[in-house]
Amino acid sequence: MSDNEATASGNFIRQIIDRDIAANKNSGRVATRFPPEPNGYLHIGHAKSICLNFGIASDYQGTCNLRFDDTNPHKENTEYIEAIEKDVHWLGFDWEDRLYFASDYFEQLFDFAVELIRANKAYVCDLSAEEIRSYRGTLTEPGRDSPYRERGVEENIDLFTRMRAGEFSDGERVLRARIDMASPNINMRDPTLYRIRHGVIHHQTGEEWCIYPMYDFTHPISDAVEGITHSLCTLEFADHRPLYDWVLDNISIECHPQQIEFSRLNLEYTVMSKRKLTELVSEGYVEGWDDPRMPTIAGLRRRGFTPASIRDFCTRIGISKSENTVEMGVLENCIREDLNSHAPRRMAVLHPLKVVLANYPEGQVEELEVANHPQDEAMGTRTIPFSGELFIDREDFRETAPSKFKRLVAGGEVRLRNAYVIRCDEVIKDVNGEIIELHCSYDPATLGANPEGRKVKGVIHWVSVAHAVTAEVRLYDRLFTRPAPDASGDYRDCLNPDSLRTLTQCVIEPSVREMRPGDRFQFEREGYFCLDEEADAENPVFNRTVTLRDSWAKIEQQYRS
Ligand code: ATP
Ligand code: MG
Repeated sequence: MSDNEATASGNFIRQIIDRDIAANKNSGRVATRFPPEPNGYLHIGHAKSICLNFGIASDYQGTCNLRFDDTNPHKENTEYIEAIEKDVHWLGFDWEDRLYFASDYFEQLFDFAVELIRANKAYVCDLSAEEIRSYRGTLTEPGRDSPYRERGVEENIDLFTRMRAGEFSDGERVLRARIDMASPNINMRDPTLYRIRHGVIHHQTGEEWCIYPMYDFTHPISDAVEGITHSLCTLEFADHRPLYDWVLDNISIECHPQQIEFSRLNLEYTVMSKRKLTELVSEGYVEGWDDPRMPTIAGLRRRGFTPASIRDFCTRIGISKSENTVEMGVLENCIREDLNSHAPRRMAVLHPLKVVLANYPEGQVEELEVANHPQDEAMGTRTIPFSGELFIDREDFRETAPSKFKRLVAGGEVRLRNAYVIRCDEVIKDVNGEIIELHCSYDPATLGANPEGRKVKGVIHWVSVAHAVTAEVRLYDRLFTRPAPDASGDYRDCLNPDSLRTLTQCVIEPSVREMRPGDRFQFEREGYFCLDEEADAENPVFNRTVTLRDSWAKIEQQYRS
């Protein structure tokens, strides 16, 4: 298998770990971590990283820590921390007692910075952010040394201590590593290690600190302090690896985790950057982080996705080093397959049209026993009431239609799912010519099966009028109209105006009363739906998780041709 191939059981990272174990590196121990920054909700890309890190820990009898990378307090808050913990648990993973914050290590990080200064490997620099940028050089030109680079150790210690004590204002000074301003790798050109930030209240450390360590300094040390063996991150950090190693090689710490990069997940028809997801929420394009159109874990959960379907998706897309973009259909197939096997069937009519059965005994109600799943007997049966007044879907009736229309036409016959064959005898219209009702007759000899020699073309679903529960149904579509919303221009320009369609007059069979928020169903012939987390069975709202069949293939063709 090449490095870029990935299967459920093996990928290039697992091969590295296998080799490390065979060589008894780290005494055969495997320790990973998932290090989110609490500046937004987790999205499906994070799920890839979560499944990788926790999955490896579990398969190698190792450990995986949850560590909040909280070095940017002005963008972070506890709402995000709580949401992230909830989402990781919901996905089925557990960090047990290994919940950490990079801020747990602020004191140690400060000491390591002092150690670097003493070794003449870090210095306090008075250049402004602007000047630092211009001294840094470019990809083709080397940088220039800061005039403060040769400051003496004692002066540096004094200034750094006073930075911590709050004597300087934001941006007045920074602490920088003293590496190589001519390095071909810009990350190695004396990167900033600490900056001053007054007036922010850190969610963990309050007002204790007014200097904050940079990610590139914090991350390797946090990993090493926790005894991480394999530090897995996305490809954009490959250029930071020399700095990761430099930090650990130049401080007195035993552990030196190995950083390994893999490609991030990109998904068509959506955006994944936290900045953009934050904008979608704060600018009101969606209803919140858990809007079912969002690629967030919270959004997918509210949409009706199961944890198993998301884990299955992460297995199917695999782990490699090559950048690619996954089609939305892959994600949808995972939930469709899961729900096809596990979701009980129910009948719901989204666009109700009333049918009166003229020959059905007045006032009679039959309780029909029907299967909850066509293949899985273990899912049992339920009863649904059948009566002389029913709703069918408007889409299932045409006054006239070509013979390939397998549903009800005027004068024609159709089978009602789990019940009888009916014939449409009369179409009732209002003054505007709008169809308001159908008068039909039913054939009592056809309950459940056709009598000998009787051919009926189609089967449609229905709900008894007197027993129907009215519900709101939300039909979701992709949030963007282009496969790569941020490829060119502003992603907001291709928001899909029809990403949410709300139907308020849908009718559901009465067993809806036993449903609990979050329960998932197949509404026969309509798709998979879940009872919204914030609704109740008396005022039900259903979110369509996914359609019955892959409608993406068609959309794809439309967009690509
Ligand atoms: P953004 O760049 O949008 O702010 P981030 O990568 O900075 O996101 P973090 O909270 O720092 O977000 O990410 C935590 C972990 O999840 C990191 O190890 C990161 O590499 C990983 N991760 C983030 N996005 C993806 C993705 N699309 N695919 C795979 N892993 C991801
Ligand atoms: Mg990050």
